[in-house]
Amino acid sequence: MSSIPSPAASISSAHPRRSHKRTLTGFTPTEIKAIDSSVPIATREKWTKFGVKEFTNVEELEKVLINHVETTLARSMYNCDDLAAYQSLSVSIKDKLTLHWNKTQQLHTLKDVKRIYYLSLEFLMGRALDNAMINLEIKDLARKSVDELGFNLEDLIVLEPDAGLGNGGLGRLAACFVDSLSTRNYPGWGYGLRYNYGIFAQKIIDGYQVETPDYWLRYGNPWEIPRKEIRIPVDFYGSVTTETDANGKTKKVWSGGERVLAVAYDFPIPGYDTTNVNNLRLWSSEPTTEFDFQKFNEGDYSNSVIQQQRAESITAVLYPNDNFYQGKELRLKQQYFWVAASLHDIVRRFIKSKKAWSEFPDMVAIQLNDTHPTMAIVELQRILVDVEGLEWDVAWNIVTKTFGYTNHTVMQEALEKWPLDLFANLLPRHLEIIYDINLFFLQSVAKKFPEERDLLTRVSIVEESSPKNIRMAHLAIVGSHKVNGVAELHSELIKTTIFKDFVKIYGAEKFTNVTNGITPRRWLKQANPELSELIATKLGGYDYLKHLNKLKGLEKFIDDAKFRDQWAQVKQDNKARLAKLIKTLTNIDVNPHNLFDVQVKRIHEYKRQQLNIFGVIWRYLQIKATPAAERAKKWLPKVSIIGGKAAPGYYAAKKIIKLVNSVSEVVNNDPEIGDLLKVVFIPDYNVSKAEIICPASDVSEHISTAGTEASGTSNMKFVLNGGLIIGTVDGANVEITREIGEDQIFLFGNLAEDVDELRHEHSVGKIDIFG
Ligand SMILES: *Cc1c(COP(=O)(O)O)cnc(C)c1O
Repeated sequence: MSSIPSPAASISSAHPRRSHKRTLTGFTPTEIKAIDSSVPIATREKWTKFGVKEFTNVEELEKVLINHVETTLARSMYNCDDLAAYQSLSVSIKDKLTLHWNKTQQLHTLKDVKRIYYLSLEFLMGRALDNAMINLEIKDLARKSVDELGFNLEDLIVLEPDAGLGNGGLGRLAACFVDSLSTRNYPGWGYGLRYNYGIFAQKIIDGYQVETPDYWLRYGNPWEIPRKEIRIPVDFYGSVTTETDANGKTKKVWSGGERVLAVAYDFPIPGYDTTNVNNLRLWSSEPTTEFDFQKFNEGDYSNSVIQQQRAESITAVLYPNDNFYQGKELRLKQQYFWVAASLHDIVRRFIKSKKAWSEFPDMVAIQLNDTHPTMAIVELQRILVDVEGLEWDVAWNIVTKTFGYTNHTVMQEALEKWPLDLFANLLPRHLEIIYDINLFFLQSVAKKFPEERDLLTRVSIVEESSPKNIRMAHLAIVGSHKVNGVAELHSELIKTTIFKDFVKIYGAEKFTNVTNGITPRRWLKQANPELSELIATKLGGYDYLKHLNKLKGLEKFIDDAKFRDQWAQVKQDNKARLAKLIKTLTNIDVNPHNLFDVQVKRIHEYKRQQLNIFGVIWRYLQIKATPAAERAKKWLPKVSIIGGKAAPGYYAAKKIIKLVNSVSEVVNNDPEIGDLLKVVFIPDYNVSKAEIICPASDVSEHISTAGTEASGTSNMKFVLNGGLIIGTVDGANVEITREIGEDQIFLFGNLAEDVDELRHEHSVGKIDIFG
């Protein structure tokens, strides 16, 4: 990668002075003076004169909408279909967000605030339009406007394809975090990749999962701001040489062998009830314009074009594995591409502030969502030492103060371990730096624990296996000042199992808990507008959407019969809404007055959809064994609903899907059973479907083998929408139980601490499971 450009160069070239009109607002005269003292005050005041005007009346939004249809989309209103209306409404609102975005960024720069950067390889965003209208509190106004222009708002909302740039919980967590960062007025940026193909669409054919590509950008994307001028070169391969400068100081120089460009696409992230709009910056790979002239001159034109196309493949597709590591070179390339571009951007922004390097950790916090971005640690060390010329120890002190690492799993098959030779080839200089980081780390461990030789082998960043591997979790721990798990139980587990040795080395204080969460704006107000409104009437407004503990205020209505009827009616309406979706997707009729038992999440052996479906089979057989006349009295009519995607290469998970569909086929077509039991597999589970499913459950299942589900977040979505839980003592179920009380949850199964012993006893035949 090329060196970081000097601040002067990067500022002046990217700084449109008199040629552009600015729309800054909300600044005091002193702040206006402070904005850029090289510009005359009168000019600066003129820039800030035009405020961000919110949409306050229907007419005004209609005017903007029509204008976008006629200019941006270049269509006449007589030729405006639902898709064009959706696009025009989206652009109208995105424009408003962009103005707030500008103002927010200018303010953060002006106030010189510390920024938090959330590095995540996945952002499972779902749809943007509904969320933006809710956060800006203009949904009613928008509904009236499009209605007067002859459209139905709900019909437009559903035309937006989900931004499915993630697999499951980890990616959705990142999406919820950026919403909360904006709502709570943090200067927080997300950094990720703009995949051309998000998580595959799931079709069910003859009961089997079939994957089809998700080209979510087919009609363009009104919510993104392409910043084609932000093009950051990223290098791969090549070799390392040692150079000596005029003062006799040696330094390592990495000359890359392949260069691609990272181009920025920004997604404004609105907060609820605030004008703070943060940024989600996603990188897209493009070829450099430096054409391979040698090949060209040799007459090998098409080969040089193919070389160019290779660059675009880096961000082409999201890897569809959830909680599973697969060591593919292109995946490592994605990771470094994303990390290098993000770090370059962050460092460039810091350099503009003209502060000393020692202040870097006071201005920048970088949070690693799992080990996928761990190379950021190495890349920052490389920038500081190789490019900026800092001493190793000085640089390393800055690096470790900057990073925090979030662990998401204790399962061995999910831990990233990159083969050393892959690394040596793709990123030769980074491998050298990892060796040095490891050397200094192991030296300090050896000094502290001179007696314990095995300890060094166990904690080493390099796994001495054959072939050798780089253990990314170890690198992430060594390079961070804090390591957190994602629920109390999980945070305790990592300290006693996979990271036990590191607790001994660094002390327990380095290991903390930050229990996952979900945004109540999307998962209550957007997903369940009726319930959200009912709660607001009781609590006197929507303040609870920012302070969820205010829901406690509902307890005093617990014996209010009318309130309870209203509550039940809302659940009934939501169940009817889901029944309609089920009919559309599967052609199965379910009775919304029967009990809805739901399990939706990625299909995984550890999540135990197989246990659920075995339970369904048992129930079916028991119903059949009950004399016909007694069935209605003995069995509560129930609908078992299961949904989720299996990784395309995960054989067992795909078999589970087939089993569910086969059971569904048998049960639903058995005339003896009728309405007593229905089994539904909902195809293509994603965020927008989750918004319809979660408010409609009577009970939902979170039944992972204890100790395997780090937190879970759908458990929270269901509880927030007034559903009961069937769950094991795992992940956040434990804390949820504490909040809602043991009588709101059906806990069962063994404890995490007993699972290993039980597994062993099963394997040696000590326990007779059929006994
Ligand atoms: C919340 C969510 C998840 C995570 O569900 P878990 O049950 O916590 O694994 C996965 N996928 C989607 C689409 C979600 O909305």
